Amino acid sequence: MLQINEEITSLFTKYLTAYLTNRDLENTIKMFSKSCTGYGTGFDETAYHYVDFYNLFKRDFEQVPDKIEYTIINSAINVINENAAVVLCELDMHTKILDQFVKFNNLRLSLVFIKTDNEWFIEHMHISLPTEAHGEDEAYPLKELEEQNQLLQRLVDEKTRNLQDALDEISKIAVTDKLTGLYNRFKIDEFIKSEINRSNYSSITFSIILIDIDYFKSINDLYGHIAGDKVLAEFSDVLRAAKREHDLLGRWGGEEFLLICPDTTITDATSLAEQLRRSIESHPFTVAGKITASFGVAAYHKDNTYDELIHSADTALYHSKQNGRNAVSTSRYS
Ligand code: GH3
Ligand code: MG
Ligand code: MG
Repeated sequence: MLQINEEITSLFTKYLTAYLTNRDLENTIKMFSKSCTGYGTGFDETAYHYVDFYNLFKRDFEQVPDKIEYTIINSAINVINENAAVVLCELDMHTKILDQFVKFNNLRLSLVFIKTDNEWFIEHMHISLPTEAHGEDEAYPLKELEEQNQLLQRLVDEKTRNLQDALDEISKIAVTDKLTGLYNRFKIDEFIKSEINRSNYSSITFSIILIDIDYFKSINDLYGHIAGDKVLAEFSDVLRAAKREHDLLGRWGGEEFLLICPDTTITDATSLAEQLRRSIESHPFTVAGKITASFGVAAYHKDNTYDELIHSADTALYHSKQNGRNAVSTSRYS
């Protein structure tokens, strides 16, 4: 057995020399039996026949003709009987590939030697390279997969967040008047209709206040259209600051605004309109100084239509204009 061990040791050294040091195809392949099988390190490197091995080594030596330096980390010879022995070996290799120095750590090599007609041949070879991805204590690259998953999850989260932000932004734009930052006509209509629905199914009522800047045309004429725009924005800010939190304020069009006051009687809405009128009257506008506005207040009555409600507020506003402007009027139907 000791003798077999020595024989195999010397054969193994011979094999490493031919295969790694000399890159000698003929002397490497000569050591394999005609029925040899095995695996190389590449995905396609399975050899079912001698000729497969021949081709694998041929390709190997063509791709990397340079000498491969190696260091054996561990090796063992297991003599099964006088005609069979297994060599296990772990080794590091380094060489030059495509003009770069490359190091492979922990290559695992197994060779099965069989003695046939008094001569030893390699009957089976398995060489494998643990992937860098494998962590310690892992049969599969679990940690790397987990990191990839986390990375993908982060990317998905980020994309979802961006989409949600974009959607929020678009939703906001869709209901906002660009010049004043108030709700637009679309949103006002929607809100009035939902308040009408709510009132029809309950005893709660709501009121609306239509607001129109007095003599706005002359502001444009005096200071120009751009200054007029600034007045509209400033006017909106004053209303926004003076309204109650749950009132919905929007730009009805041009220099007209609409305030929807949920759960509010005509009396309370009229007092609120009076407060707003005073806020506007007392506010020193940057460009135009003193500005006034006229107000038309209307409350919703069960089974009124949307048009009837708007018409009521419009009529009340008309009365304020007729009464000399800078005034609050209440719809006579309310
Ligand atoms: P009244 O007291 O009767 O309401 O008089 P008024 O001048 O305010 O009313 P009128 O409806 O005659 O004029 C409204 C003006 O508002 C006419 C229009 O040019 C101006 N206007 C409407 N939208 C805008 C806007 O977005 N920017 C500017 N600068 N002016 C606007
Ligand atoms: Mg007007
Ligand atoms: Mg006006």
